[in-house]
Amino acid sequence: MPVSVQSTDCTAQAAPPGPIDLRLPGRVLMGPGPSTADPRVLRAMAAPLIGHLDPAFLELMNGVMAGLRCVFGTKNQLTLPMSGTGSAGMETCLVNLIEPGERVLVCINGLFGQRMADIAGRCGAEVMRLEAPWGEPIDPAAVRRALSQGKVDLVAIVHAETSTGVLQPLEEIGQAVREHGALLVVDAVTSLGGVAVNVDERLIDACYSGTQKCLSAPPGLAPITFGPRAEAKLARRKSKVPSWYLDLTMISQYWGKERVYHHTAPISMMYALAEALNLVLEEGLAAREERHRRVSALFCEGLEEIGLEPFVRPEYRAPMMVTVKVPEGVDEAAVRRELLHRFNIEIGGGLGELKGRIWRVGLMGASCTESNALLLLEALKKILRS
Ligand SMILES: *Cc1c(COP(=O)(O)O)cnc(C)c1O
Repeated sequence: MPVSVQSTDCTAQAAPPGPIDLRLPGRVLMGPGPSTADPRVLRAMAAPLIGHLDPAFLELMNGVMAGLRCVFGTKNQLTLPMSGTGSAGMETCLVNLIEPGERVLVCINGLFGQRMADIAGRCGAEVMRLEAPWGEPIDPAAVRRALSQGKVDLVAIVHAETSTGVLQPLEEIGQAVREHGALLVVDAVTSLGGVAVNVDERLIDACYSGTQKCLSAPPGLAPITFGPRAEAKLARRKSKVPSWYLDLTMISQYWGKERVYHHTAPISMMYALAEALNLVLEEGLAAREERHRRVSALFCEGLEEIGLEPFVRPEYRAPMMVTVKVPEGVDEAAVRRELLHRFNIEIGGGLGELKGRIWRVGLMGASCTESNALLLLEALKKILRS
């Protein structure tokens, strides 16, 4: 049947919708992201748009690349923000570095390890899964054992597993992967800007992050860095990178000297990231890590005082993502609802096999303050007592 012209008029289907309501509630963001954006970051986003090839914008891009190198702890030339959220960073690393038929060892102790395995499979890799229980780190000795069983091309692992609250020690694993001659890809979406990632020192070949966790900007960009071995791998690919949008051989020409148009950069998000990086570097990486560790420790102590228990052993707790065991008989979703509606506080629930069993409390970037920690403890105490 031919489509009539009238039927495309929205008034033909329903009453005019009226303006969309943007009077949003002010929330205390203590979930798994987004975290609070500093007012300076929000102001930066309101700056007038300029073109993505404007010399002033190219200058800002250079600043962003330099800032990212600092925060990643790397000299890597190929360091830039991809357009997209943290998952775009994950996909960028994997689609550029994996060719069909290659063997990829994915360390899985939570949801984001599973996501990496999914993507590696879609790239045509033969995926080997190295699993640890959710809430436990990956044992470096197990990585060595897996590598000793045959040639592996790439190893992927999560630094701070946001689904469980585990911070993964990386030094020994970096060493083992380098000795084997494979590439090491690390997910630093939640850790970057909170604790040191130290890409060069830890022998990480490719690393990615997102803007809305400890960098405390809105979601929308995914910083990535590729070291010399990763760049070499990209250069000797036999097949084209299977994603056009995430193909670093083209994107690096926009960020490099050539400045070749690939896609329109998300201008306002770049302003936000630039100001977020200024804030991180003004505070200093060491001071920022100290703040995350101090506030997190204070929060965990407070938890125990009100009869709650962290889910992860102290040695492996990610300071920016504290997971808390839900006490027997407590409806965890009802507690989160009351936190949101009565106290304006957002926290997260468990994912996957931890659904209903833990709460996830984000102490990320600008959200990581003593006053937020105390506010949440007080609110939890009130709710659990009633
Ligand atoms: C949030 C997160 C991602 C995914 O990032 P999105 O911005 O949601 O796409 C990936 N890995 C980890 C560890 C994360 O915390």
